Amino acid sequence: MTERDLHCDTCGSIQPFEAPPCVDGHGADCPERACTGCGAAIITVFVLSPPRRSSRRRTAIRHRAA
Ligand SMILES: [Zn+2]
Ligand SMILES: [Zn+2]
Repeated sequence: MTERDLHCDTCGSIQPFEAPPCVDGHGADCPERACTGCGAAIITVFVLSPPRRSSRRRTAIRHRAA
């Protein structure tokens, strides 16, 4: 269920990654994934919780209509 296919730099190809036993107390939210091919661990935090970039700034940038 926690398995997903990601690109592994070590394998150089798409590999199924699975969540390793978490030792940091992340629980179900653990961002770590381990390649089932080579065992390399990666952090997928950017996938689970994308950085919140506020759209507030958008109103500050305005192009002149004229
Ligand atoms: Zn963890
Ligand atoms: Zn790998």
